[in-house]
Amino acid sequence: MFRYLKYSATPTAALLSTLTAWLIALTPVACQTATPVVPPSAPAPALTPTATPATATPRAELQEHRSWTFATTAPAVTFDNQFPCARVNRCEEVAPHDYRITITPENDPINPSPWYAFRVRADAPTDITVRFVIATKTARPRPRLSTDGTHWTRATDTQWTGASGAPECVLRIHAEPAATWVASNDIIGNDRLAAWSDALAVRTGATVETFGTSAGGRALRMFTLSANANTPEDWVIVIGRQHPPEVSGSVGLMAFMDEITSDSARARAFRGAFRVALVPVVNPDGVHEGQWRSTLGGVDSNRDWGAFTQPETVALRDAILAIRSRPGARIWLALDFHGTNKDILYTPLADDRTFPPRFASQWVAAIQARFPDYEVESTSAHNATEWTFKRWAYETLGAPGITYELGSSTPHAQIQRIVTGAADEAMRLLMEAKMANAHTPPDA
Ligand SMILES: [Zn+2]
Repeated sequence: MFRYLKYSATPTAALLSTLTAWLIALTPVACQTATPVVPPSAPAPALTPTATPATATPRAELQEHRSWTFATTAPAVTFDNQFPCARVNRCEEVAPHDYRITITPENDPINPSPWYAFRVRADAPTDITVRFVIATKTARPRPRLSTDGTHWTRATDTQWTGASGAPECVLRIHAEPAATWVASNDIIGNDRLAAWSDALAVRTGATVETFGTSAGGRALRMFTLSANANTPEDWVIVIGRQHPPEVSGSVGLMAFMDEITSDSARARAFRGAFRVALVPVVNPDGVHEGQWRSTLGGVDSNRDWGAFTQPETVALRDAILAIRSRPGARIWLALDFHGTNKDILYTPLADDRTFPPRFASQWVAAIQARFPDYEVESTSAHNATEWTFKRWAYETLGAPGITYELGSSTPHAQIQRIVTGAADEAMRLLMEAKMANAHTPPDA
């Protein structure tokens, strides 16, 4: 029934992994500080691969794509997971028009960020009950509903019963002959992000490059924005969707790039001064398969920036290093969009040692000043010892590596409003930093 991509985890390896995680958890954050030496005018030397190779190769379990039709009680009701981003692992009838769906992750242990998406239809309109069994201890994302797979509303309090940690959550909906989509967040998958980024390329003249191929054979695409051939080799890197369910991060990434490519005076000036490399989807297989966290290889790509075990992280690392090796090139910002339970920025550990120095703290302050009625949260301590993209960007490139998290329940209009302003502030600060460093030659 299930296909296992890799299945080599051993009890010993799992125990080692657990012990390691436990020891890291007990280590005070202050002791975890990495100490790269990053001269302000030069990128840091290439990272020595000190990361311990993974002690266990996690298992990645693909769901079976199928439909389930229950016809013992008329009208018949059909569920299916046969579309991109779908995820349902099991479906059964427990009583007339009363069903249980089971949602499990692609591997275990895993970050508790469940993703599910399925369609349901009935031969004739009828009320049904759907019981969710979600294989985590806590997170119980409230379903979003759609009749076209594009426009979504959150299930109401009368439709949804479920709270953090509930063993079973219940959705009551009216099923119709036309499909209803049910998902843990709006579905913004590879197709929609490709359409958005292709339109951006047409509008701006950005070039599109396939810099690698995912384990599942999908193209990894980078969009490069530069006003013309004479645009200085001053770069901003923007990436997203390392983690498949983090739709709110994609909403933020699109808002950020839409402002960078807007017709505002600031954006036009910025595009004359900086180049932007955009990778909207780092983990297209995980997005397509509706995975909770991992690549198709069963690895969290945002913990793979030291060991580099995955084709996706290797290809992106090499593409960024190729940018850095261009004559006169300098990377001023490396921004990675994610989604979590709230809006928060994860900033570099040693903000004063990045180039440009103190960009992250200045940016956080600028966003706060721009939106006084909105609390901007940030921390440099989060996951400081993990091999995240932001850590790699800081240690290897000397750049401000920043993880920009947007809340999975933050209304998309709110994400767009804040991130649009944040993009404008980032452009202002980067141009000011460039003026201040006008006499500092790039590293030879
Ligand atoms: Zn994430």
